[in-house]
Amino acid sequence: MREKFARFMYGRYGIDKLGYALIIGSMIITLLTSLTGGDGNIVSMALLIWEAYRFLSRDVYKRSRENQKFLSISAGIKKKLSLLKNKLRDRKTHRYFECTTCHNTLRVPKGKGEIRVTCPVCKTVTITKT
Ligand SMILES: [Zn+2]
Repeated sequence: MREKFARFMYGRYGIDKLGYALIIGSMIITLLTSLTGGDGNIVSMALLIWEAYRFLSRDVYKRSRENQKFLSISAGIKKKLSLLKNKLRDRKTHRYFECTTCHNTLRVPKGKGEIRVTCPVCKTVTITKT
């Protein structure tokens, strides 16, 4: 049985992070719609069918590209959420601002008056009030 499955799966893509995300997304939609009494079954089923298609697909290169795209998008979202969390945590002690040259986020202590800030990435010096 196990050998048969292994032979069936040979050359097929299988599961990756995007696959897990699709399954979890489908479960969340099912849960939310069952709580609210709405009908999200079509969306939920579409996600599962999409994942089944990816799982059984033999075009490994294309599926892998999809996963890479998903990972880069989710990394960007994670980075933004992390910055938001830090801003909330430091709201009383620090001020965040963007470097005018490279748009890197800089953090300076509050209540120090006018200070010179050197961006660690592009070395641009900014004078700002904190
Ligand atoms: Zn900079």
